[in-house]
Amino acid sequence: MFKIAFIAHDRKKDEMVNFVVAYEHVFKGHQLYSTGTTGTRIMEQTTLNIHRFMSGPLGGDQQIGAMVAQDEMDLIIFLRDPLMAQPHEPDISALLRLCDVQGIPLATNVATAEILVKALDRGDFGWRELVHKYKPGVATGEAE
Ligand code: PGA
Repeated sequence: MFKIAFIAHDRKKDEMVNFVVAYEHVFKGHQLYSTGTTGTRIMEQTTLNIHRFMSGPLGGDQQIGAMVAQDEMDLIIFLRDPLMAQPHEPDISALLRLCDVQGIPLATNVATAEILVKALDRGDFGWRELVHKYKPGVATGEAE
């Protein structure tokens, strides 16, 4: 079981809901997280149970980022709106940066998301189990 997060900007929410509905059978076996409104929209259309954080502009991206910082999140599907500025742009950049710091699979469009979900379904995420198994204790205060 892996931890997966969904985030979709407003003009991408329909696309996200359609995507999650299409792959509901894959997501069903995992622990799911989302920003507030995205999660509500997905839960309205599926039987999935999603832990919803705050809405993105109110800190939801940062809450998901905190899990990424501790290397706890295994996959993030973040359908960003590339054509509209967001008030919480710094939070978005911070989340993307943390994914690169930890090497977390991150899809920012549905084409990439589909490839990652198919990989998840056929067992390509096994390496994340090793990460969890051998992860040193979090919040040790060991900074470089
Ligand atoms: P939301 O947040 O799911 O609460 O809309 C996503 C965002 O806009 O960052």
